Amino acid sequence: MCGIVGYVGTKKASPILINGLKRLEYRGYDSAGISTIEKDGISLMKDMGRVKNLENISGINDLEGTIGIAHTRWATHGKPSKENSHPHMDNSKKFSVVHNGIIENYESLREDLKSKGYTFYSDTDTENIPNLIHYYYTKYENEKGIERFLKSVRSACLDLKGSFAIEVICSDFPDNMIVVRKDSPLVIGKAEGENYLSSDIPAILSFTRTFYLLDDYEFAILSKDDVKFYDKDLNPVNKEVKSIEWDAVGADKNGYEDYMLKEIYEQATSTRETVGTRFQGPKTAFEELDFTKEYLSSLTRIYIVACGTAMHAGLAGKTVIEKLSKIPTEVDVASEFRYRDPLVDEKTLCIFLTQSGETADTIAALKLSKEKGAKTLAISNVIGSSITREADLSIYTHAGPEIAVASTKAYTSQVVLMNVLAIYMSEVLENNDQKYLDSLKEEILELPEKVEETLKISESLKDFARQVYQEKDVFYLGRGVDHAIATEGCLKLKEISYIHSESYAGGELKHGTIALIEKGITVIGVLTDKNLVKKSISNLQEVITRGAKTLIITNQKDLDTKAFDVVVTIPESNTFISPVLAVIPLQLFAYYVAKEKGLDVDKPRNLAKSVTVE
Ligand code: GLU
Repeated sequence: MCGIVGYVGTKKASPILINGLKRLEYRGYDSAGISTIEKDGISLMKDMGRVKNLENISGINDLEGTIGIAHTRWATHGKPSKENSHPHMDNSKKFSVVHNGIIENYESLREDLKSKGYTFYSDTDTENIPNLIHYYYTKYENEKGIERFLKSVRSACLDLKGSFAIEVICSDFPDNMIVVRKDSPLVIGKAEGENYLSSDIPAILSFTRTFYLLDDYEFAILSKDDVKFYDKDLNPVNKEVKSIEWDAVGADKNGYEDYMLKEIYEQATSTRETVGTRFQGPKTAFEELDFTKEYLSSLTRIYIVACGTAMHAGLAGKTVIEKLSKIPTEVDVASEFRYRDPLVDEKTLCIFLTQSGETADTIAALKLSKEKGAKTLAISNVIGSSITREADLSIYTHAGPEIAVASTKAYTSQVVLMNVLAIYMSEVLENNDQKYLDSLKEEILELPEKVEETLKISESLKDFARQVYQEKDVFYLGRGVDHAIATEGCLKLKEISYIHSESYAGGELKHGTIALIEKGITVIGVLTDKNLVKKSISNLQEVITRGAKTLIITNQKDLDTKAFDVVVTIPESNTFISPVLAVIPLQLFAYYVAKEKGLDVDKPRNLAKSVTVE
């Protein structure tokens, strides 16, 4: 789930590994550790808590090894503790392993290894891996050289069920490291006379811009000057390197107090990047897609499948995709979709949204849809991420690296991209007046300026945050797309301020939840859909009557707002893109509340940036 770093070169590995782990801290973790190959064998230093604790372990600065593996753990099997931290070694201390992911058959593997005489010192699923490798290494004793090491790692991996990104070092091969992945992220950065490994590109972008992206069950043997790739059957594979254009500065705070604040303020630029040059010609450009009028006309249903914030972007995207394509569109949570035997066939288009492109449930939902015959389209922010390699078609949000765990600019870019996609689909279908579509494009092109304006207006919410930060419950209300926006705002508050909050469709309130409204409680209303504003105002009146204090976010200029305590009026826009603007005050409100509480907004407790486990 969390982070892996590795180094093979001529420099001292330990400071490079620690630095790399720090760059992965945003992913959320509970323990950290490293192993290097020293003159007298493999070193092992690990502890629970922050990377800082690891840095303070005595002797860590004396490590001389130039090859090493490193890990930040987000415990899945066994509580956070020093024993359960990675790396894990086999009983003979010949192999050291770090692993991200989950080994689903860990219990039977453990029993089997125990019956073969192996002892376990941790509660992790991971500890099976070094022992399994050792078991095969003993079996392959007649094999020569690095072949023996490679074959042992491969045989061990074939026994594993679940997900893994693994780095292995062996004291018999002090110049090499073997790595492999399945359904968990791992990239190799190639530099002059050295190679780097990491769970994501930004962590090692300051060392190199040239990367190899591993596919599932691809094995790599690294030395300082070389990387050799093998497929699942150990046939050699030729791999192309990928060059990354964006730079490490893009992943730095750039003067802002937190990554989250920086990313909120980047939304004018990021939404502009999302649109790019797609609207330059008379028709929307999507070279990545092969949709024909015949294909789109054959569709009976579109599914948008995602988790968390991306799912909320899907809810906003549904409106525009369904309205413009006139194809029934449903949004589903990936972890539900994958287990409910959904009605998917070749007449279904399945769209998957994930910022990281590594979200395990979303990838599994995509694989299922493919098996059922649907065309699959991935929308991700990370070039070359796992989902884009599984999907039939992929498009990118181009929002730039998002570091803060709570997603902001990735959400707005996903909403914008779904608008652009919906317009493109409608042009292919030729089912709407082109003048109407052109006016929608115009509005999207005007978005960045309106985002700037909204950011300025929303700064006024600092005061309101000061009134609310000690409260226990906050409610969010909206109807239609305003409910989707409210739900995303509500999630932001939960994620970073730890205040309990609920989002309701305005009309649902009196069917139960209104029982919770009492004097002084905060209710936040989103009012951007002019067809529904009056209805939502009635719902807000109901809570005001019961003593609630209210904040409303609206783009309606002629609204009678006397009844509300705080009103934030954002620039006008059509309802398809209003989520992009209306979410900004809600993002900033959540941010200000969390800051008032003195919380670490970039790394909220219990959360991980990239949810690579089920
Ligand atoms: N499942 C492993 C453990 O609990 C690895 C967790 C991770 O990916 O950090 O130790």
